[in-house]
Amino acid sequence: MSQITNHLPTKELQALDSAHHMHPFTEDAALAKKGARIITRGKGVWLTDSEGQQILDGMAGLWCVNVGYGRKDIAEVAARQTEELCYYNTFFQTSHVPAIALAAKIAELAPGDLNHVFFAGSGSEANDTNIRLVRRYWQAKGKPWRRTIIARWNGYHGSTLGGGSLGGMKPIHAHGGTIDGVAHIGQPYWWAEGGDMPEDDFGLMKAQELEAKILEVGPDNVAAFIGEPIQGAGGVIVPPKTYWTEIQRICDKYGILLIADEVITGFGRTGDWFGSQTFGIKPHIMTIAKGLSSGYAPIGGSIICDEVYNTIANSGDDFNHGYTYSGHPVAAAVALKNLEIMQDEKIVDHVKNVAHSYLKERWDALTDHPLVGEAKLVGLMGSIALTPNKAKRAPFASKPGTVGFRTRERCFANNLIMRHVGDRMIIAPPLVITPAEIDVLIERATKSLDESYAGLKSEGLLKAA
Ligand SMILES: *Cc1c(COP(=O)(O)O)cnc(C)c1O
Repeated sequence: MSQITNHLPTKELQALDSAHHMHPFTEDAALAKKGARIITRGKGVWLTDSEGQQILDGMAGLWCVNVGYGRKDIAEVAARQTEELCYYNTFFQTSHVPAIALAAKIAELAPGDLNHVFFAGSGSEANDTNIRLVRRYWQAKGKPWRRTIIARWNGYHGSTLGGGSLGGMKPIHAHGGTIDGVAHIGQPYWWAEGGDMPEDDFGLMKAQELEAKILEVGPDNVAAFIGEPIQGAGGVIVPPKTYWTEIQRICDKYGILLIADEVITGFGRTGDWFGSQTFGIKPHIMTIAKGLSSGYAPIGGSIICDEVYNTIANSGDDFNHGYTYSGHPVAAAVALKNLEIMQDEKIVDHVKNVAHSYLKERWDALTDHPLVGEAKLVGLMGSIALTPNKAKRAPFASKPGTVGFRTRERCFANNLIMRHVGDRMIIAPPLVITPAEIDVLIERATKSLDESYAGLKSEGLLKAA
């Protein structure tokens, strides 16, 4: 069996990498000077790099490796399916066993009447599918003018042109523009934007921006609202308790389709199978990817409720949309095995009753650190806000992200992967993390915060804006 093994020195790999490999969301020239960190192996929650360092992956890759790295049972399923049927498409009235079995399993796990799955290769693609689905739904209902989709600033829905337009990340919009028919409202980010308001009142106020936007666009022009139950890439922003019930009420009132982007929150991350269950959301469509296959194969999709599915399926026309790799048999077989592991090993229970409770106490205790203002943790999705003044919830005087980046650098040096979003530090470790591994995570996080704090202090960077 041929394998891509690491037989080159790190420096040579880095030189080849910068010569030929353009990285996502990266200033490549700056990276070329420094050289990328090269990861060679993974097992459980641990990564090994080309220098032999053992790194605790506090981000499960990109929020995806939920069952942990290096599972032989998944590798075997991939090998077997590759031999049996490596590829066939699901166009032209054709199907195959892995796509059928995976769709049935997803429908079994998804709440309510979310019974139909349209497959994509990623979360971004699935959200592009959703744009077509909701617009096609309203066409089939005889209201083709209902096509505006409302989303949130600082939401993330992928980086294709459609997904990037739904997302509210201005730096993404700035590189290539956006599609028409998308409107944005504010985010329910109490720590940074709530001022003197009680958190629950702020949650209501932010949800009511949706109603104001609906009235501005005209209720009969709005197709759907899309949101992540918890904003992930935006900084693990956990909305106030009042937020989602009010969003749901407004969507119901105006008959607007509700899309829950569960790419991160789906499949156990929040301590339930879906974040919608954690927050009491009843979506018409869910976006899924990442944890669907634990990142072992690229696959995503849309889970669609009976009403939306039936309307499109009975419209008397094809749904003119699909990807070569929609329901790819190897990816589907891998995802199915991943979900079976989640069930057999009761991983969602482990998140809720073991890992979350054990981490929660330690995570909250980080607020005793002089640099940490608040700590949030839902299931195994957490964030801490770095601040020079806790009482005032003040931002730093330095450019936003400066302190976060410096803290991430300390984490890197201490062999812990923790990401920063602005001056928030975030984690989403593999769901199989054990209490002993959580101890290591907290120990390394604390050391990194201490070092970051000491550096900021000696350079006089602990000033509030
Ligand atoms: C990662 C992510 C996406 C995009 O998924 P890709 O597989 O990277 O295309 C969409 N929505 C959310 C909430 C995400 O976190």
